[in-house]
Order: sequence, then C-alpha cells, then structure tokens
Amino acid sequence: MQIIHDFLTVNEYSRPGRKLNEVLGVVLHWTANVYANAKETRDYFESKKTGMGGYASAHYIIDQNGLIVAAVPEYEVAYHTGSSLRDPKSGKVYTDEARRLFGKYASESSSPNICTIGVELCPKDNEGNFTDATINSAIDLCADILTRYGLAADRLITHHDVVGWKDCPKLWTEKPALFEAFKLSVAEKMLRG
Ligand SMILES: [Zn+2]
Repeated sequence: MQIIHDFLTVNEYSRPGRKLNEVLGVVLHWTANVYANAKETRDYFESKKTGMGGYASAHYIIDQNGLIVAAVPEYEVAYHTGSSLRDPKSGKVYTDEARRLFGKYASESSSPNICTIGVELCPKDNEGNFTDATINSAIDLCADILTRYGLAADRLITHHDVVGWKDCPKLWTEKPALFEAFKLSVAEKMLRG
C-alpha cells in the first residue's frame, strides 16, 4: 500500500482544521470523473479554498493505478458526507442506517462528517467501474483504518447509504451485492493481517 501525503491547505471550504469528535465509520465514494486521477482530484479539493466552488473534500483518494493520496489528516474533519436534503426513505436528513451507525452525529444539527473518514475512489469508466488496482488499495486502506480504530468491517458504508438520495459510488449504489463483497474482502484482509 503506497500512500502519498499531500495535505490540503487549511481553509474553510475543504480542510477546516477541526478535529473529528471520534471515528465511527469509513464512508466510500467515487469521484464521478474518469478524467481525473487521485492527484488531480486532490488539487480540485485544494481549489475549493477560493470559495468559488462550495465545500468538498475527502481524507483519501485512490487512483486508477492504486496510488493513495492523503488529502486531509485522518484526525481532522473532511467535507464528504454532509447533507441538507432529506433521504427519501426515512424522511430525515440521514438514513436509518446512518443514524444507527453514527447516532447523534447524523441529525438535523450535526453531520457524520465529524465522526467518519472519507475515501474517494477514482473510476475507470462512466459506469463507475473500478480497476483491480483501485479496489485492492481500497481493501488494504480500509482494513488498515478499521484495525487501527478497533472497528469491524460492518463500519464501512457507502455515501448513498448515509444520505439516500446520492448516487455515490454509482457502481455500489446500483449493485449493492458488490459492496457486500468488498466488505467481505476487507474483513478477510483484517483477519489475515
Ligand atoms: Zn460521495
């Protein structure tokens, strides 16, 4: 597992510099951009600091070639899974699953951003498929994070399963069985060490 640490500048829009309250889960995303690699996605988050493009970031971005870029230190807040719209199923801002996993942080007045680590995967095509290199690095990274925080693989969740209306990552929103298989691979990796 190769990680390049290339942290964003502390700024209001992508790296607020605030500490996470605690770590209760890891949220998986796709960048929705086949034309950007991990470094370019990191630079896109950096460009948010001008205030011209809203709030967005993640702790880690995994390249199509498997390289992992660390954009925000894992003990700080990144802006990857907050929402102001309602989940169509629960009628609340966050899903039933998010409220089960993240409790008081998944509420009208708080956001799971303050208790989760966000991981972005760069897709290889517009359908949202990932290369084997991306998936293998994601398995290694997630297993490492969960082990260090004493969490089980059921603490992995997609962005879609946190906010409901968001089609992210597209592949695992459309084919949830593939995300279950991913979680199983992470659990196996944690057992092997
Ligand atoms: Zn997302």
